[in-house]
Amino acid sequence: MQLSHWIDGKAYQNSQTIEDVNPANGQVIATVPVADQAMVEQAVAAAKVAQKQWAKQAVHKRAQVMFNLRNLIVEHFDEIVGIISLDNGKTIADAKGELQRGLEVVEYACGAPELLKGEHSRLVGSDIDSWSEFHSLGVVLGITPFNFPAMVPLWMIPMALICGNAFILKPSEKVPMAANKLAQLLQAAGLPDGLFSVVHGGRETAEMLIDHQDIKAVSFVGSTPAAKAIYQRASAAGKRVQALGGAKNHALLMPDADIENAADTLIGAAFGGTGQRCMAISVAVCVGDDTADKLIASIVPKMDKLLVAEGNQADADMGPLIDGIALDRVGNIISEATAQGATVVKDGRQIQANNSGYFCGPTLIDHVKADMSCYQTEIFGPVLAVVRVADLEQAIELTNQHQYGNGTCIFTQNGAAAHKFANEIEVGMVGINVPLPVPMAFHSFGGWKQSLFGDLHAYGPDSVRFYTRRKTITQRWLKQAAGQGTAFGQL
Ligand code: NAD
Repeated sequence: MQLSHWIDGKAYQNSQTIEDVNPANGQVIATVPVADQAMVEQAVAAAKVAQKQWAKQAVHKRAQVMFNLRNLIVEHFDEIVGIISLDNGKTIADAKGELQRGLEVVEYACGAPELLKGEHSRLVGSDIDSWSEFHSLGVVLGITPFNFPAMVPLWMIPMALICGNAFILKPSEKVPMAANKLAQLLQAAGLPDGLFSVVHGGRETAEMLIDHQDIKAVSFVGSTPAAKAIYQRASAAGKRVQALGGAKNHALLMPDADIENAADTLIGAAFGGTGQRCMAISVAVCVGDDTADKLIASIVPKMDKLLVAEGNQADADMGPLIDGIALDRVGNIISEATAQGATVVKDGRQIQANNSGYFCGPTLIDHVKADMSCYQTEIFGPVLAVVRVADLEQAIELTNQHQYGNGTCIFTQNGAAAHKFANEIEVGMVGINVPLPVPMAFHSFGGWKQSLFGDLHAYGPDSVRFYTRRKTITQRWLKQAAGQGTAFGQL
């Protein structure tokens, strides 16, 4: 399959291309063009022209496009799920979950008239009223990661568009296919050409787009080094930036937790999406040795039952990692853990021999210490590390000292412990007996520390702020002027 850029409602090619590989078997599934400066110029120019009209479009008409898009995504749901699973390798169930979460942002964006109503204050002074309006920014850019080919673009696209902007997407070069499907659906939904473009390529293309003077804001989701670099680069050029980075999410298990239930939910939280989720739980912080021993006794048999297979196999629980680089990284970190004195209780690398894809099975490492590489780094694979601590105080301190602060959760039956945890933990998204506390579409998504660069979180109310600039108008009409020069005479 030959993929194209999507600019101004038309498909374009470039002579330079890259290959898109199916991670389940290493075979090439698409050839993808890599945009050069000329292609970037073309996309931005088309977006700029289209945006001028779109910004004047009645807000309920913008919302109507989102209603149409919502219905089209529902209609094409299984097809999009198939594309996600093929390109990324994730299971059909995971792909369905991802698309559902993306769809919810489209549904939230259908409320555009309410979201963009602005704020009004009567009588801020004698005969004076004041109100704030949300104005569009212009052409905005989204750069997205490989692990959610549809959901992360959908965190951005609907919100940027309803706010009156044109949106250019530079999807991950590792999973470029879903972006083109979304482009088709947006056109079918009635979005005028030019307002949504897909520009393919890697880092160089992303940098050309970021540097373009007509790009007014950049939404980025990906690894922390890239998030930091993009935040610095774009903000130095005076652009608005939100750059969401990596994670190392801790689950705290208290001695009073329902361990069986915690182990059940940790199976999904740690190994779902093959651990390639920015909200995946990768550390189980157990308060007391007894808690750790019980967790291991409960979770290992559940791990043994997980079927690691091609994502589109009906009974698969976990698909492959995205590529050979990821497979090597995960393998090396497991080896280092052993060398550094941790105990590998279950080693997912043993599954590799039987497959031509980039498969790694669920892995459990016990007796992990804070200075080990398997604790410090984001592994981004199906690896759960068990750290043993003495009490809640230590568990909170450990979590707070980590460089990342995306998500976390506590398993406990004690309200006071949960309350202390929620208050003191330095993490952006917190669960209490909920291992994946991903905010719904009507809240906003974002972490703390090295997990987010910028002030505003993704989707939800923050995204209206991010994709608009405010104008505040203060108005006074003098009484004696009322009626003068009108057909009504003096009032
Ligand atoms: P990545 O940083 O390698 O790439 C993400 C995107 O950025 C791709 O489109 C890539 O082409 C582009 N890119 C890479 N380096 C760049 C640079 N220096 N300048 C400009 N563009 C650049 O990330 P990935 O491997 O695709 O995704 C996995 C990472 O994303 C993990 O670290 C994961 O935690 C993170 N992630 C975070 C969130 C979140 O909400 N915080 C969500 C999903 C994924």
